[in-house]
Amino acid sequence: MTSLQELVRPELRGQTPYGAPQLDVPVALNTNESSYPVPQVVVEQIARDVAGVASSLNRYPDREFARLRELLAGYLRRTTGAPVTAQQIWAANGSNEVLQHIVQAFGGAGRTALGFTPSYSMHPLISERNGTTWIDGLRDADPAKFDLDGDLAVEQTRAHDPEVIFLCSPNNPTGTALDLSIVRRVYDATDRAIVVVDEAYTEFSRAGTPSALSLLPGRDRLVVSRTMSKAFAFAGARLGYLAAAPEFTQLLRLVRLPYHLSTVTQAVACAALEHTDTMLAMVDKIKTTRDDLLAGCAALGLQPVPSDANFVLVGGFDDAAATWQALLDRGVLVRDVGIPHHLRITAGTPEENDTALRALRAVLEKELTNE
Ligand SMILES: *Cc1c(COP(=O)(O)O)cnc(C)c1O
Repeated sequence: MTSLQELVRPELRGQTPYGAPQLDVPVALNTNESSYPVPQVVVEQIARDVAGVASSLNRYPDREFARLRELLAGYLRRTTGAPVTAQQIWAANGSNEVLQHIVQAFGGAGRTALGFTPSYSMHPLISERNGTTWIDGLRDADPAKFDLDGDLAVEQTRAHDPEVIFLCSPNNPTGTALDLSIVRRVYDATDRAIVVVDEAYTEFSRAGTPSALSLLPGRDRLVVSRTMSKAFAFAGARLGYLAAAPEFTQLLRLVRLPYHLSTVTQAVACAALEHTDTMLAMVDKIKTTRDDLLAGCAALGLQPVPSDANFVLVGGFDDAAATWQALLDRGVLVRDVGIPHHLRITAGTPEENDTALRALRAVLEKELTNE
């Protein structure tokens, strides 16, 4: 008998699946979800609209999700001023699936994808799982610096000449947004790479931080991906999307499975988009909480990294893994992203923030007395 391990595709042998812990803890600040529930007015609209389509579930959904694309384009136009049309929009079950569609269409065997590490862990995973060779680029020659160095990004783009480049702005897990000049320079450094700007956290950016959507006109290889998981407080709905040239979204239709967005998903997402202001009402509060978390960590003598997102990367831990466990023992789940001496903490409610900071203080004091 041949074992299944031997039968599976060679690149999958011995791999482990994505698995951020889903633990039942009092304070979960590990996956950058919103701590605020979906507002009641939207809950009621969702219930009505799902009931409205339930009897038609005998039919396949609108394969072109036309209404959803119109609403998403309208949201982007209204919030960024970029002249985005419905033909430029693509959507899928979470932006992870959107990113996978890009890699399926433009990556694959014999092709390479370049990213600048540390960044979103799914960029290499999605690339490699789809047969694309991943290149771990550097953000800065000094590994202690987390902002992307434009000269170095251009240099690495020219040296590796990849088919796909992932930029992430604001960057997860380090927190800061990219200057658009870097996006422009990376784009101009290659004439064949698809340049993906993952803007999952863009709604949390500090004032004056522009979206790469404004760069789309005239740049057919540029893609800006977005999600409803973070600012829209809608992670459970699974709705991610992108904006790119109409010809680009046309090519993604070659790799999507037929009817990939269910009638229910489309109804739920459209209901939320009809209440955009209500859905985004907590964003300003979360930004304040994030800034408070940053200040609170600094006051504890830690080294928080400036953030344009709904989380803060915090440095200054002697042993990040031990601190992660000690916080979990106190009911606070944060993320150990594998950067030595750092932990990533999501900005929750002000109460969760206080609990997390109190737990941090207790853990740090205990470490001191143990020394
Ligand atoms: C959370 C996150 C996503 C969102 O993934 P979804 O599949 O839309 O939930 C995408 N990119 C980055 C960088 C993220 O942190």
